[in-house]
Amino acid sequence: MDIRMLRGVGETRARTLAKMGIATLEDLLLHYPRGYIDLSAPCGILDAPLDRPCAVLATVIKKSGEIRTRGGLKMYKATVADDSGEMELTFFNTKYAVESLDYDAAYLFYGRVEGNLLRREMRAPQIFPPRADRPFFAVYPLTAGVSARTFSGLVEQALKLSPILPERIPADIRAEYRLEGIAGAVRAIHRPQNSDELETAKRRLIFEELFTLAAGVGLLRTRTRAAAAQPMEPHSLQPFYDALPFTLTGAQRRAIEELTADMRRSAPANRLVQGDVGSGKTMVAAAGAYFAFLSGAQSAMMAPTELLARQHYEGLSPLCGRLGMKVGLLVGSMTPAKKRAMHEALAAGEFDLCIGTHALLSQGVSFQNLALVITDEQHRFGVAQRAALGQKGRHAHTLVMSATPIPRTLALMIYGELDVSVIDELPPGRSPVLTYKISSGKRERAFGFIREHLDRGLQAYIVCPRVEAGEEDTGLRAATDYMLELSGGAFKGYTVGLLHGRMKAADKERTMAGFQDGTVQLLVSTTVVEVGVDVPNAVIMMVENAERFGLSQLHQLRGRVGRGKEQSYCILLSDSTSPETLDRLKTMCRTNDGFAIAEYDLRTRGPGNFLGQQQHGLPQLRIADLATDVEVVAEAQRAANRVLADDPALQKPKHAALRAAVERLMDSVGERPN
Ligand code: ADP
Ligand code: MG
Repeated sequence: MDIRMLRGVGETRARTLAKMGIATLEDLLLHYPRGYIDLSAPCGILDAPLDRPCAVLATVIKKSGEIRTRGGLKMYKATVADDSGEMELTFFNTKYAVESLDYDAAYLFYGRVEGNLLRREMRAPQIFPPRADRPFFAVYPLTAGVSARTFSGLVEQALKLSPILPERIPADIRAEYRLEGIAGAVRAIHRPQNSDELETAKRRLIFEELFTLAAGVGLLRTRTRAAAAQPMEPHSLQPFYDALPFTLTGAQRRAIEELTADMRRSAPANRLVQGDVGSGKTMVAAAGAYFAFLSGAQSAMMAPTELLARQHYEGLSPLCGRLGMKVGLLVGSMTPAKKRAMHEALAAGEFDLCIGTHALLSQGVSFQNLALVITDEQHRFGVAQRAALGQKGRHAHTLVMSATPIPRTLALMIYGELDVSVIDELPPGRSPVLTYKISSGKRERAFGFIREHLDRGLQAYIVCPRVEAGEEDTGLRAATDYMLELSGGAFKGYTVGLLHGRMKAADKERTMAGFQDGTVQLLVSTTVVEVGVDVPNAVIMMVENAERFGLSQLHQLRGRVGRGKEQSYCILLSDSTSPETLDRLKTMCRTNDGFAIAEYDLRTRGPGNFLGQQQHGLPQLRIADLATDVEVVAEAQRAANRVLADDPALQKPKHAALRAAVERLMDSVGERPN
């Protein structure tokens, strides 16, 4: 039913609503409130909390005329009272609120109470009748052009017309999980009569959203399983193991065996290797590429930064050389002529492994016989990019690697279509990095500590949040300026290098090469060193303005050290006094366990911030929260699997509504289920 059939919705308003994704009555009703004004238990004026909004039941005893402030604002005041005391209400630029109040009449005023024991005040409160006809008043996420009052009115009208809403949860699942029907749940989410009703409705709608997501991920899984891939021949990997300068850990061996077993099948491998920083994931990729090479096929490996691509290229070239494989590099900063030459060589199948960045996704790139597609630091790429590279090899196996330890509940939803190998073991001989939080008063001492290590032939990083100091003083360290300051001051006589994303590729390369071979002793950089950089001789990671970084990011940065035999240190410098920041940094000092850190991050910051919406390709959820709705996630997952077992492509008529919802959801992240 078109939204324009509602009273008060003309063309202009319809356009505004369309921008919010609302074109029909159904859309309107599926636009859930983001919260509620709780009118069920009003406070007295004196005992109202000062730190959060609440409802106060009081009687109007005085109204004032217009008052002009010095800033030219028009102000209107009223005084209200209850048994405990009096409170002043202030409204700006609108006289209607005060005019609408009757003397000696009681109202519910909703807002934040301010002031002290003697004088209480509420600015621009919302006004409700004293016995609100319902205890919870829905608050909607709105854009400019439609007021809260208008929107509530539209919802009211739509509820009266009760359009038929699609029931996406099959009846047997609803019965099993005790979920109410969609119509009742939607009514209650907009107009809850009491908190029980609200909770029941919420659970049902959260379940529906997660169930739809789980079904979508399940469909993707079916689709990838059903596609045909080129099975690799069962050659032995012994030559690979023999060519390594070290013995692989048990976890690495296991991941390699799982991957190569997948690759021998005619269904495409779709494997995620998840392992903390430094766990040696690259070797799994190398083994996979070698396995493809033994069958005469090629592999491509995509890294999120040029720095990392080059490092992989340089790191893997000697090993691959010993194995008779030819390795190529394709990155954005190469000259057009060089790129063209690479494109031709790739199409001709001259390289057995091609390492690169997004450049691998560009139009001109084709492979002769691409059998394995590897994505490193997968959380940096969206689902769509991952798929784009996959399409370069029509029947390619895929391997994705990630150091961002995704808590299990999230992993199920994000990577549900993938098989997972976990590398839960670090190469032997590593001692955990010791982490300390200091404030700037101790900076000089930290420098002394770093100098002692440089004198012993070791290396260090100092990471800053900015590239250059801007016009205004942000109090944030900038790598460019800091590098100059340090090389002429605290680190005079030492070789100090600079690295940031805005440098020319050739300059970056030169600095990295210098740091790699030890001529650069101290590297001042931005977070470009965050992912993957591997210099085992570097033992100290100092982070300036540590409060500016997410924990997972700090953990990644810390992962740059502790890669060799020497004891390594991470120094987090921050002058922040916020208890939350201090708690976060304390968590870093307490544990080296990436999973524990990720759980903490997820709990305190929510999944959106934790991963970044774009990066993991997860659709925007309306009502569910993957971080807190953990139990429902598991239930919805189980329910979706049951439905898919019975109807793998969701083609039965009874699943039509579910299928339509899944398609909408997947469309929003650029995936199409079959
Ligand atoms: P990440 O999992 O963070 O990508 P890398 O693959 O970069 O880790 O490996 C980190 C370092 O450990 C590299 O220098 C690599 O050569 C080394 N390494 C990998 N596996 C082993 C092993 N089994 N024994 C010793 N060193 C290893
Ligand atoms: Mg890596």
